[in-house]
Amino acid sequence: MARYTDSVCRLCRRENLKLFLKGERCYTDKCAIERRNYPPGQHGQGRPKFSEYSIQLREKQKVKRMYGLMENQFRRTFAQAARTKGITGETLLVLLERRLDNVAYRLGFASSRAEARTLVRHGHILVNGKKVNIPSYFVRAGDVVSVRERSRQLARVLTAMEGAQRRGVPEWAELDRDTCSGKIRLLPTRSDVTMPINEKLIVELYSK
Ligand code: SF4
Repeated sequence: MARYTDSVCRLCRRENLKLFLKGERCYTDKCAIERRNYPPGQHGQGRPKFSEYSIQLREKQKVKRMYGLMENQFRRTFAQAARTKGITGETLLVLLERRLDNVAYRLGFASSRAEARTLVRHGHILVNGKKVNIPSYFVRAGDVVSVRERSRQLARVLTAMEGAQRRGVPEWAELDRDTCSGKIRLLPTRSDVTMPINEKLIVELYSK
């Protein structure tokens, strides 16, 4: 499966926004955005040109990179959002929030979405007590997402749980730190996504 292997900090610098792709490092002064807050590359410090298309494209890239998806996966999620009743842009963000890798990250089992995806793929995450190793699995209200018992003592899970206290748990979930499990009280809504995102631009881009 295709995956991005270059420096992830370049992605934040390109989008001119902290996307929190590197776990704890993102909260330190080692963050590349803090040090070099301009786009990467030879022309990074030049004067940027903005067209309607480039603004829409940047918005899509920002969200796609934030959730760590490749273009095809993102398009598929968008197509699913477009088929669903409701406002497509908002539905897209809700679907992205419902992904199992995102939920594991939000609950604090991993320090980044990329790490959460690895945990899911390697079978460390359970949904309602059963192993689910599909990062794109959409959780439902009432689901209980937990770390498999014998994985709870993994150093990266313990470190992530400690660091995640700073981020807090979203309102739509309820976390039991002792058992490393979280209940999805309700489905997330658009207002639960607090990053600065203008999803209408993504809809406009894909509607061309
Ligand atoms: Fe982005 Fe984190 Fe790198 Fe900062 S440290 S540029 S927030 S990935």
